[in-house]
Amino acid sequence: MAYQTINPYTNEVVATFPDATVQEVDEAITAAHQAFLSWRETPYSTRMAVLAKAAKLLRADKRRYAELLTLEMGKVIAEAEAEVDLSADILEYYAERGGALLETEKVPVAYAAEGEVEIVNEPLGVLLTVEPWNFPYYQVVRVAAPQLVAGNTILLKHASNVPQSAAMFDDLFARAGLPAGGFKNLFLPHNLTEHVIADPRVRGVALTGSEEAGSIIAAYAAKAVKKSTLELGGSDAFVVLEDADMEKTVEWAVFGRHWNAGQVCVSAKRMIVVDAVFDEFLEKYRAGVAALKAGDPMDPTTALAPLSSQAAADKLAGQVKDAIAGGAKAETLGAPVPSTGAFYQPTILTEMDSKNPCYYQEFFGPVSIVIRVKDEAEAIAVANDSPFGLGGSVFTKDTVNGEKVARKIDTGMVYVNHPTMVKADIPFGGVKHSGYGHELTNLGIQEFVNKKVIDVVDINAAF
Ligand code: NAP
Repeated sequence: MAYQTINPYTNEVVATFPDATVQEVDEAITAAHQAFLSWRETPYSTRMAVLAKAAKLLRADKRRYAELLTLEMGKVIAEAEAEVDLSADILEYYAERGGALLETEKVPVAYAAEGEVEIVNEPLGVLLTVEPWNFPYYQVVRVAAPQLVAGNTILLKHASNVPQSAAMFDDLFARAGLPAGGFKNLFLPHNLTEHVIADPRVRGVALTGSEEAGSIIAAYAAKAVKKSTLELGGSDAFVVLEDADMEKTVEWAVFGRHWNAGQVCVSAKRMIVVDAVFDEFLEKYRAGVAALKAGDPMDPTTALAPLSSQAAADKLAGQVKDAIAGGAKAETLGAPVPSTGAFYQPTILTEMDSKNPCYYQEFFGPVSIVIRVKDEAEAIAVANDSPFGLGGSVFTKDTVNGEKVARKIDTGMVYVNHPTMVKADIPFGGVKHSGYGHELTNLGIQEFVNKKVIDVVDINAAF
């Protein structure tokens, strides 16, 4: 696919960029490797200072950075500004703590007179990061911030519809003081991805995206015997129990399903509601969704943005059509969305069951699946009846029971009385077909380091 900026609000092509050639790719790998050889020798304080400066630059020019996100993938401007802030938060998180998270560990051992061995954290080398368009800055920072502090260097292959948001990082990190080659965006065509991963100087790959892309990239990594992490799709359950605070629960449900136009891996995609409050929930949810105002994402009064591309809107329309053919009932809500641009009319699907061919699919947009269940036990069973295992939430006034329910949900993250949250200081990761590995916090920074054991032994020690 060509690297192009297409404004999803108008569907107009704004700019087109040529794919990287093999020669450019090889030069970038060489530069990233050269940069790694000196970067790994720098103290943590030097690396952390680069991140602190990058955060400062983002915050100082927040509006301009946010406008680029809105132009390229259509999110409403307030959410774009929030993404710039979140990206700066993550850079600052590692600028403050990165080195401390990688301190040498001393492990007691029984056999040796010295009584302990050391585990030192060393960087691996050049990493490839493959990222999706839904949070064009945040997704990149989730990998780049920890891994640059760890001493690795980064090659970025971003989604083809956010080329300018991707290229922004070359400039940002250069201005923040990162040595040349330390971070490089490449307009990498799919057919060169394996070439990059197979290069011996490239030591790992982190992908966020769809299950399809994840399995292809992870297979390249496996073939080359390289470490990979996968942050893939999800179909988060939003469980509503009988004692939930209904007003607030519905507000969170509307937000949880529709922020970023419903294009979030941890969107509340399946509302699973116990029979006793199902009718009340559905009536209030319908009203909440119908009130969302679609329009120009640059207009601060717009609540519902266009999707990221016309292709994304067409894909969603096809899924809804298939769901209806499979027996679901679809109900569209609210004033008609604009007829130009990649908008999709908010839709509720009911009467979905496991025989429906779309029941186990991820709907990436403003389409809510609302499922009636008998009781809490059935809610947990339905929540877990999914190939995905990313996030989820439980709404109840009894938070002690809420935590018990959370423990029974087979996903990487579960929130009680909040849709799955995204913050700089909370780890992020899934299980099942949502992938493996973690991003953020101490868990994320440990993914691409060599935990090297060093044991200094008395030469006269027994074997
Ligand atoms: P996608 O098609 O998988 O794209 C993601 C990235 O993979 C893009 O950079 C894409 O590049 C690249 N890619 C796709 N196929 C490739 C191939 N064969 N070789 C090399 N690169 C390839 O994902 P999407 O549909 O745009 O994004 C949405 C998905 O990401 C959803 O499933 C969502 O749930 C998931 N997601 C997960 C998380 C998480 O943290 N778990 C976060 C956000 C999104 P091109 O654009 O050039 O195809």
